[in-house]
Amino acid sequence: MNQLRLAATKVHIRWINADFKEVAVVRTPEGAKQEVVVFSSGNPVILSQTTGVGTIIIHDLVFVSDRLLKYVLVHELSHRRQLYPYVFYPLSMLLLAESIGLVAAALTVFPIVAATNSDIQYAIAIPIALIVAPMLVVFACFLSWLFELWADYRSIKVLGIKTVAGAKEDGRKLVQMHPNYFVRLIGWLSRPPLLITYRLYLRLNRRTIDMGRL
Ligand SMILES: [Zn+2]
Repeated sequence: MNQLRLAATKVHIRWINADFKEVAVVRTPEGAKQEVVVFSSGNPVILSQTTGVGTIIIHDLVFVSDRLLKYVLVHELSHRRQLYPYVFYPLSMLLLAESIGLVAAALTVFPIVAATNSDIQYAIAIPIALIVAPMLVVFACFLSWLFELWADYRSIKVLGIKTVAGAKEDGRKLVQMHPNYFVRLIGWLSRPPLLITYRLYLRLNRRTIDMGRL
């Protein structure tokens, strides 16, 4: 891993309030060698992530469960294939920034201009901005659901639903030591329940489904 990417990854790890541990090479379920960055934190909120520079970070607790490690590797590698860091991150940041900008303008600039210039257009722009702003957030959530659904779909395809469901259960046990409703809300807004992904998988693979994997 080049030093610049490692430095940026360490900044990312600090940003999520965790500590860098080491760079490790692991074997993916498909047999390839994969470099990952291992981190630790006292209160695990994030177990794995693909960073903005395309590196994969994995919480050291993930290594206690073989199926969880397999799942996070396939899931994060799928994000890398989606060019997730270069497509989803900038796009979602843009949508969220635009949304905050619209709300700020609707509460400050638009009313002032509307009142001082008696400009009806700015008065009309206030409710429009307040309607469009949450729609942009909903669209960002929809995009996130799409990327996550895609990554979990591929995880089911490679590992089978039993391993993925078990891995998610292991993951939940690791992060539920300190339940935090805000973190759970972010989870609901950013990724679909596994059942939805699995239903889609069944629908699209009706003829090719491998019953041995169930
Ligand atoms: Zn993901």
